[in-house]
This record gives sequence, structure tokens and C-alpha cells, in this order.
Amino acid sequence: MLSQTEALVDLAAVRANTALMAGLTRAEVMAVVKADAYGHGIVPSARAALEGGATWVGVATLDEARAVRAGGVTAPVLAWLHTTGSDFAEAITAEVDLSVSSLAQLDEVTEAARGTGRAVRLHLKADTGLARAGARPEDWPRLLDAAAKAQADGHAEIIGVWSHLACADEPGADSNAVQLAAFLEALEAADAAGVHAPVRHLANTPGLLAAPETHFDLVRPGLGLFGLSPFPGDDHGLRPAMTLRAKVALVKRVPAGTSVSYGHTYTTTEDTTLALVPLGYGDGVSRAASGSGPVDINGRRFTVSGRICMDQFVVDVGDHPVAEGDIATLFGPDGPSADEWADVTGTINYEIVARVGPRVPRRYV
Ligand code: PLP
Repeated sequence: MLSQTEALVDLAAVRANTALMAGLTRAEVMAVVKADAYGHGIVPSARAALEGGATWVGVATLDEARAVRAGGVTAPVLAWLHTTGSDFAEAITAEVDLSVSSLAQLDEVTEAARGTGRAVRLHLKADTGLARAGARPEDWPRLLDAAAKAQADGHAEIIGVWSHLACADEPGADSNAVQLAAFLEALEAADAAGVHAPVRHLANTPGLLAAPETHFDLVRPGLGLFGLSPFPGDDHGLRPAMTLRAKVALVKRVPAGTSVSYGHTYTTTEDTTLALVPLGYGDGVSRAASGSGPVDINGRRFTVSGRICMDQFVVDVGDHPVAEGDIATLFGPDGPSADEWADVTGTINYEIVARVGPRVPRRYV
């Protein structure tokens, strides 16, 4: 470990997690690597997932699609979140599949396709109940008809029909059955409109792990690639890929009654040793974990003492031997879990890894 902080990313774990999930389904696997692969690094993660058995790559933005292609990935890439005026021609030329949810989006991307002389590869998105992207049921037939016409005109190739689940991480939620039924209706309407998309897809990681009826032709796991589970307390055999850690920057003895960090929210009760860890909210370590974030140093569990600052925080390590340069692990397979950090900060494990900031160097093993 050369840097003072690092996010160690175990690409063998990404490969193994992908293989594990691919083994649970007959569908193809799209590796969802948006948001810099949930903080793990978009290109190395995409490559590792493809080595592990994924055959598709999914991203949110066109910039992310560009990064994947620039990284030499030749597998099909789907980008699903774009705004009017984006450089669709560039995406079409780079053979990036585009999701469309409305007639306006369809018009804009087919117009761009006309300019490139190529057909745009389309995934038509139905809103089956998440109320995010996707065409509502009353707008779906018109979108299908217009897409079929664009295909007949040679400006589009309809590759997919898809949707996204709202509550897949709550397998008992009524909305899962409602969304599945709505998706089946959307597929029937597509058939009726003569739109026979070869790739129907609905499931994210929780759908993949817990709802085989949502698998269709392609599943879209993100979280699971990185070894985190959407089901607290059930890891499904997945291996966390990221370890967030830092070298202790300074160690000092202080007397009882020493108040620590901004706001003096923590005061030592005995003579003790304080260790300074050079990670803070500027690195994505939430200030909400002040006084509660778990940290392992030399195999022992401690807690963040006082407020987390922008660049650093303090840990009261008592009389335990800790030296400058020792490793403090915030989370990872050999330390506290991202789930524990999520618990103490009132969020989900997705956010814990995704917000590790660009100042923290990623190191791949
Ligand atoms: N599909 C879409 C459209 C998404 O937005 C996401 C991420 O939220 C995923 C798939 C992957 O979800 P998960 O990380 O739960 O597997």
C-alpha cells in the first residue's frame, strides 16, 4: 500500500460474484457499472464482470458509455439516462444501445441515426410502476408503433423491451406481482404491434437473487457484482470487492478530559491514545457516522470518536498498541461491512461504496 488512503478493489471477487449470479439464471447478464461501477472503477469492473460471465454492460449516462468503449469494451452497452441535445450521433456510431421512454426521445435518436447513416439500437422502456423513466401504459402503444415505423424505415433496430422494479428488495411486496403483470402486458402489446424485441429485461440484483420469474432474457445486476447483498443479513455467497482503508497519520497520548474534533462532541474519560485517520467526508465518508462509524485497526474494532471532518477523523484506541502507518480499515471483507456503515448512517450499502470519492486512489488486485 503506497498511498495514505486506498480503495482496494478485488477484481477476482467481481469475477466470482458475476459467475455466481450467472449460475443462478438462464438469462444473459448485463453488468451494471454506472456511477463508476458503484465506486469500484468503471472499466476494470466492466472487464472483470465480462470475464466472470456477463455478456452485456449497462450504464446510466452517455459519458459512462463513452468511458466503457474508450476502455476497449466491445460487448453490447446499454445507456438509459440521457437528456435532449445529447450527442446521440456519437453514441450510435460507438454502437451504444439507447433506451427510449417517449415519442420525443424516439424522434431525437432516430433523427440522429439518420445523420449517421446507421440504425440506432433501441430498448423501449415501459413504466410498469416505478414512475421513473418508461412510457406509461396509455402511451406505450404509440411508442411501439412509432418504433416499429422507425425500424421499417431503417433508422432503428429494436433490440429490447424493458422495465425496472421498485421493490425487488422486498420480495413480499405486492408491487412486484403488479409490475410483473404490467410488464407481461407491455410485452403482449409489443407482440400485437409487431415489435418482437429479442431481449426482454426486468431484474436487478434482488430480482436476480430472489425472483426467477423476473429474469426473462437478460438480468441487470449492479450491487451483487460488487459482493454486496440487497438483503440485509443474507449475503447469498457474494464476496465484497471493496476495502476502504487508510494509514494512521498520527498517534498521540492525551489526558482524561480531552475533547476531540469539531464541536467537542467526544471527551476522553481516561488517559488514552488518539489515532488520526486521513479520510473524511471529502472522500465520501459520511459525517453522519461521527461518533458511530466502525473502524478496525490491528485486528481490533474501534469507533470514530467525535466528528468526522472533511479530510480526517480521530479514533480513541485506548491503551491498545497503534503506531503511525498502521492500517485503519473502514469496511471490506476483513473489517467492518459496508452494511454496518449503512446502518450507522441511515442509508443503504449502495451509497456507502458509490460515494467513495475520487481523491481515494483505487488499487486493483
Ligand atoms: N437497472 C437499472 C435501470 C438500474 O437503475 C439499476 C441500478 O439501480 C440496476 C439495474 C442495478 O440494480 P442493482 O444494483 O440493485 O442490481
